[in-house]
Parts: sequence; structure tokens; C-alpha cells
Amino acid sequence: MIPEYRQLNFELPGLVESLRSVRKARLHRKPKPVSSEQFMGLFEVVPPPDPLVRQQIAQDRGLRLDLGLTTQARELLGSMDLDALAESLQVYWNPRLITTAGLAHHGASRIDLNTRLVGFPPEEPGRTLRHELAHLVAHHSAAGRSIQPHGPEWRKACTALGIPGELRCHNLPLARRSVKRKYAYQCRYCGIVVPRVRKLSRDSACYPCCRAHNRGRYSRRFLLDPMPLGRAKALAPEHAWA
Ligand SMILES: [Zn+2]
Ligand SMILES: [Zn+2]
Repeated sequence: MIPEYRQLNFELPGLVESLRSVRKARLHRKPKPVSSEQFMGLFEVVPPPDPLVRQQIAQDRGLRLDLGLTTQARELLGSMDLDALAESLQVYWNPRLITTAGLAHHGASRIDLNTRLVGFPPEEPGRTLRHELAHLVAHHSAAGRSIQPHGPEWRKACTALGIPGELRCHNLPLARRSVKRKYAYQCRYCGIVVPRVRKLSRDSACYPCCRAHNRGRYSRRFLLDPMPLGRAKALAPEHAWA
């Protein structure tokens, strides 16, 4: 099985740092007094807290609540003494997820699972559920501190949830056949061919190289350069090229 190559520069520490400073700047900004009209406007962007209302909104978006998995997840959280988190948690099947196996929404205490996981071995949805639960647990344990998505807090939560050594990215062949890769890039350091559905930003780096040679930190030494599709097809015919 060819592991899905993912562009991970969103999680590279450089970006995390810059997001952190933006967040800090926002924290230090003095809030302006809010008029009553603006105040009512605020209510529209805050997610409604009632689980039933949330369920209705989710259904309208094509999401399907899974009561069995929700119960399973709540029991797991309950066994970790995270009762408040357990109480508000809901697990949904999301037909709009394509290559993402699952998503954890911190604000809404919600986990979305890719409906295509059903076609995989029976333990797969449960494993993805635990992976995403670990994100919620890590976020909860950080109590407002900003943490790396797959950092030590997440790994610790994975172990507590019974999936020690969990990988940050799944290698399930989700939608591999239907999504055609129109763009090709090559790492200027290791030469790996990277197929992409969409164009990459100019500063994307090769994650395996950043990890192997730079402790996972971003470095321009490992930039991904665009390459002609024909050459990419010849070098790496195993990918689903357009
Ligand atoms: Zn993850
Ligand atoms: Zn590389």
C-alpha cells in the first residue's frame, strides 16, 4: 500500500509559532465596547449549546449522528474522569470528508468520521474515533495553552485511549482512485515525487525530509519544486495522475 503523501506544513512549528504570536497579539488587544446590535450579532456566530439543536444543524448538513459510537466515546472519556467533555460529545458520520479519515472539533465537542471508513476492516472506525478523541482530550488537558496537534499531549492521550504509537496521519487508501492528481512536485533534497490535487504554496517543504534531517521543523533546504506532469508520471507511475 502506498501511504498517502500529505502536505503537512500546516503543522510545522514555524507556522505554529506565527499563529501563536497572532493569537497572543489578539489576546493583548483591548476589547472595544460592544453595542447592543453587535451583541445580538455575536449570538449568531456562537454555536448553540443545546445538543438537540446541534444535532438538527448537523443533519441539515448531511451529517448523521451515531449513537453507538457516541456512547462508546463517552464511556472512554468517562473512564478518564472527563465527564463534562463526555457529556457534550457527539460523533457524526460526515459524507463530505474525502481523504480525511476523521475530524475533531474542539469548540463543538464533536467528532466527524468519514463515511467511507465503513468499507474498511471493522476495527477502523473505532481506531479513527480514538485518534480524534485524543485530539479533544489533548486540547482539554492543555486548558487554553496552544499545543501541537500531534504533540506530546496528543500522544499521551492516545496511550490512555488504548492506541499507543498511533500515527499522525492515516494510511488508508481513501478516495485514492477517484481523485486525480493534476500537479506534481519534487523535493529538491531527496527527489521524492509528490502528487497533488491542488497547487501548493511556493514555500511548501518535504515533510519526510524535515522530519528526518531537521527534527520535523520546516526548512527551505527541503522545498518542493513544481515538475512537469509527464516526468512525474514516468518517475512515479503508482500515483493516480490526471
Ligand atoms: Zn490527528
Ligand atoms: Zn525530501
